[in-house]
Amino acid sequence: MTPQVFESLKVPINLSWGEAAILLNDTAQGVLLAVDSTGSLIRTFTDGDMRRALLQSVPVTTLLADLPGRDTPIYVRDTATPSEIQALIAQHGISHVPVVDDSGRLVDLITTRDLSQRIWLSSPHLGDEESVFVEEAFRTNWIAPLGPHVDAFERELATHVGVGHAAALSSGTAAIHLGLLLLGVQPGDTVFCSSLTFVASCNPILYCNALPVFIDSEPDTWNMSPRALERAFEAARRENRLPRCVILVNLYGQSADMEALLPICERYNVPVLEDAAESLGARYKGRASGSFGQLAVYSFNGNKIITTSGGGMLVSDDAKLIARARKLSTQAREVAPHYEHEEVGFNYRMSNVLAGIGRGQLRVLDERVRQRRRVFERYQQALADIPFLRWMPEPKGCLSTRWLTCFTLEGEGATAQCRALMRLMERHSIEVRPVWKPMHLQPLFRNAPYFPHADGVDVSRQLFETGLCLPSGSNLSEAQQDRVIAHLRRVLTSSLDTRALA
Ligand SMILES: *Cc1c(COP(=O)(O)O)cnc(C)c1O
Repeated sequence: MTPQVFESLKVPINLSWGEAAILLNDTAQGVLLAVDSTGSLIRTFTDGDMRRALLQSVPVTTLLADLPGRDTPIYVRDTATPSEIQALIAQHGISHVPVVDDSGRLVDLITTRDLSQRIWLSSPHLGDEESVFVEEAFRTNWIAPLGPHVDAFERELATHVGVGHAAALSSGTAAIHLGLLLLGVQPGDTVFCSSLTFVASCNPILYCNALPVFIDSEPDTWNMSPRALERAFEAARRENRLPRCVILVNLYGQSADMEALLPICERYNVPVLEDAAESLGARYKGRASGSFGQLAVYSFNGNKIITTSGGGMLVSDDAKLIARARKLSTQAREVAPHYEHEEVGFNYRMSNVLAGIGRGQLRVLDERVRQRRRVFERYQQALADIPFLRWMPEPKGCLSTRWLTCFTLEGEGATAQCRALMRLMERHSIEVRPVWKPMHLQPLFRNAPYFPHADGVDVSRQLFETGLCLPSGSNLSEAQQDRVIAHLRRVLTSSLDTRALA
């Protein structure tokens, strides 16, 4: 519901029900909201109220205030949780729930139609060819892990991103774990990792009993800060304790600044594991994101730009590393007719059925990138007049997939406003999330060292506290996106007034 439609539903309580009936018909939302001179909600007027007034032959000049009906309207406070709202709807069998603030002023209207059509942050989007590959797997009885689709998916993905070799695995997390083992991470080693990321980037450091050191973001890409990385290396060299590797994360569909970061790692002769779980399809200076590290990882989890429902890929130009990844991911079996084992292995291989889904998805990857970028552009155009809203930047030379459309709010009260915005969206069954909570702020990593972008400048914390991610799926319809935009505008333009007054 746009701000205009919402405003058009507010009527004065001293309106006659005959006039209200005409407005109810014109606005066509099935409800009017009668308010007093202070904007407090006094009652609702619905199609049902109109029917009852007719049947009881109430004169059309009777004021809404005097109309028989509910003495106290059904409403929720703006702090109500989605489940409280659902319970109220079920209890009263209503299709609209007005929302009031702590002083009783009408601030919002929830419709059950909205609630029944949840808008997700990023939902799976199948193409036309997945089922063909999956059926082939069934028909040929290749249901096991391994099989022709796994081999083909690996080849096709490696070709798509311009990397020599790929191993299809059960998840991106498994791929990171194997990547760390392949780079020789031992118990007690340190591993540098971007702080602003999903926990799956660094949980595998703990699987290896190694110690994470977290590096802040820089404002231009939101990815690892070269300045912070430089200082982390200087400190490590002073302590004679260089990290075994650096996990460079590419967030929200955008590559980190490789030209600034890679030379630092090379100077210290420390390999890079690129976490490209969120950036498949992105490019940096003409090259595919995920083609920069000694090893790189993609994810095909359900919310990623393409999905196998669950899965991951480890890629590298080093054939030996990938061959070893395949071995470790299938219980580390030695070459022998019997089952011979010299080292610990894992059950991390992708199944042939899921690889079939992946092959179909890979064929629409470029289209998905265009669709996600289009979603971003529509948000950008629709909210261009909000001066304190900043989209995640896309520096020159970067092509972001806009896997998620993210923004920050600037100025005083931005954090509170982000939280309020998220609550409002959740009331309308729209999934909006804060930017990742940085790892150096997580209780799990409370003892891990952290290097901020500059003295007293904690960029990742700032992004978390003032940043939000919007529904960004490639299958988001324009109507759904308009719903998101309308609610965003309502909150952000109303705060324009308050900000102007402040
Ligand atoms: C999704 C994700 C992963 C993990 O991938 P899974 O396939 O879900 O295990 C790792 N890192 C980042 C940054 C991610 O977003």
